[in-house]
Amino acid sequence: MPVPLQASPARLWTDIDALSALREPVAPGWTRPFLSPSFVRSRGWVAERMRAAGLEASVDAALNVIGVWPGMSPRRPALMTGSHTDTVEGGGRFDGVAGVVAAIEVVRLLQEAGLALERDLVVVDFAGEEPNAFGLSCVGSRALSGQLEERHLALRDPEGTRLDDALAAAGGDPAAATRLGWQPGSIAAFVELHIEQGPILEAEGLDLGVVDSIVGIDRCAVELRGRPDHAGTTPTRLRRDALCAAAPLITWVESAADAHGLGTVGAITVEPGSLNVVPAAARLGIELRSAEEGWLDRTRAGLEACAREAAERRGVDAVLSWQEREPPVHCDDDVREAIAQAVRDGGLTPRRMASGAGHDAAMIAAVAPIGMLFVPSAEGRSHAPQEWTDPEHLARGTEALARTLLALDGGSTAA
Ligand SMILES: [Zn+2]
Repeated sequence: MPVPLQASPARLWTDIDALSALREPVAPGWTRPFLSPSFVRSRGWVAERMRAAGLEASVDAALNVIGVWPGMSPRRPALMTGSHTDTVEGGGRFDGVAGVVAAIEVVRLLQEAGLALERDLVVVDFAGEEPNAFGLSCVGSRALSGQLEERHLALRDPEGTRLDDALAAAGGDPAAATRLGWQPGSIAAFVELHIEQGPILEAEGLDLGVVDSIVGIDRCAVELRGRPDHAGTTPTRLRRDALCAAAPLITWVESAADAHGLGTVGAITVEPGSLNVVPAAARLGIELRSAEEGWLDRTRAGLEACAREAAERRGVDAVLSWQEREPPVHCDDDVREAIAQAVRDGGLTPRRMASGAGHDAAMIAAVAPIGMLFVPSAEGRSHAPQEWTDPEHLARGTEALARTLLALDGGSTAA
């Protein structure tokens, strides 16, 4: 018989609501970006909530908030859970936050049920999961998985400030942050609860999703260079119009999408950007996402061919600069099954799905078996102020997270 566990929707909502008050005042929605004043204040708030729930909490060199609920056999590899509480500009109240408040609620409800774990339970609020001005996402989980390197710390924001200087100014310790990595084998499993950020669970009337894989991401900057000419005197056949060369690329990226992957042109700039000048340069920001490396390879090659052809036809130059790929990550079979069973034990149907968004779990996968649990997003909205997850759904997810951790602990012990 599964242990009866009851998470409190009211307690979960109280924490989400209180944390949402920490935000940048002039920005839209709920904006709490990495290293902003509200982000720095949120470190203390989260640590305090962890302590109130009985965790030993501290802020590490990368500004992760780490809470430890000591187990009965602390020498065994630990269990880890958590997510992030930083947001995108104009974001919502639930992305990442749901997984942090749920992790703290798990400790409360296990204690209320008179249960203790054999292993230490490490609850993490990962610093800087969202992309930031330095062009680096998942800063905290990168550090905890030993993947934060000198070259990352040397990245600069548009004002020219280095990431290590900004991290130090916010109270972090950049040199120490590169040495935070957990050793493979020291984490028995990492489980992240997160909002779905898509419409599937709500559309199918299901409460909880179990993630199979997290998509890999290729990002590319395409620069097309033509020639500025007078828009009133230069006949069309004599122009080298960089923006017209960009047009077929935009629709090619859209048409490359199929059941295995998605492509988006999310940014475009044009030079000189005047109504009476033929565009001399067009820059596109392109993103490809798929759980299959083969799809990413094929689509990348197709995009390069399309850019070459479009450039040749218009007599412009095309330069493609690819960022380092974020490879797809597959969830661990045993962790995934533990999550699915925990969902079934709560009387619900687990919906297997891929995550189209990147997550801290993808970083932690370098040092630990990982799994993810999704709770529904109303109308699939995310990265917008309208983001919403019913606290009742979050409570069901929290209970499933607690049951998952009990199962992965290898048997619970009455406290
Ligand atoms: Zn997130």
